[in-house]
Amino acid sequence: LLQVTGLEKSFGANRVLDGVDLEVRRGDVLVLIGPSGSGKTTVLRCLNGLETPDAGVVAFDGGPSVDFAGRVGKADRTALRDRSAMVFQHHNLFPHLTVLQNVIEGPVQAHGVPRAEAVARAVTLLDRVGLTEKRDAYPSELSGGQQQRVGIVRALALQPQLLLFDEPTSALDPELVGEVLTVLRELANEGWTMVIVTHELGFAREVADEVLFFDEGVIVERGAPSELLRQPKKERTQRFLNRLL
Ligand code: ATP
Repeated sequence: LLQVTGLEKSFGANRVLDGVDLEVRRGDVLVLIGPSGSGKTTVLRCLNGLETPDAGVVAFDGGPSVDFAGRVGKADRTALRDRSAMVFQHHNLFPHLTVLQNVIEGPVQAHGVPRAEAVARAVTLLDRVGLTEKRDAYPSELSGGQQQRVGIVRALALQPQLLLFDEPTSALDPELVGEVLTVLRELANEGWTMVIVTHELGFAREVADEVLFFDEGVIVERGAPSELLRQPKKERTQRFLNRLL
């Protein structure tokens, strides 16, 4: 589905990505792990055009293919953004809009989907995550886990080819983490292509097709979860995992 080559990004003197290559196959779940500041979030942001790398190529099968070493226009960034939808650590819902209004906002405003169609799609998706009865509630009336599930539905409503998750459970109270991971598990089983930044290693072991360990802007090690999480080859990976366990 997607090929990323030679991604580089600096903020001033801080080299955040130092040559990142990765491939996402259709239907795969990639999990990115690594210490804080290692560049995981920046990779996600580069994939969907929120961040402009200094160099590197982001190429979707059948386009768009954007070479950031050259001139990159707004049209390129928009084309990238349209391929994926991102779910953030904090749900970022509009507080003054109801759940339903939050979900249809993107499709109606950005994609020009007719309102009735967007509503029908939203209702189906909300039902799937068990939030039918909350459609007219405001975000402040929901628990953190419910808010994050609405955040996921909002991403799904855009019908992207790729779902990007940036630590989707790390802002939640421990007892609310499970309900969000359950939704992610279901999406993985349904064949959604996903790239997930998370510290939930048990979850990674269950759903990931590939785990990538980041440190200091490079992928130190990658592999199947059964290998990378159980028997990492690199000492740096081992040290990181030992600290988490
Ligand atoms: P975390 O788990 O803490 O989110 P991360 O691995 O996702 O860490 P990034 O968020 O990608 O790491 O950040 C990598 C580095 O880039 C950090 O040192 C961060 O301070 C820096 N950085 C990120 N965004 C910006 C920005 N807009 N301006 C300046 N520095 C930035």
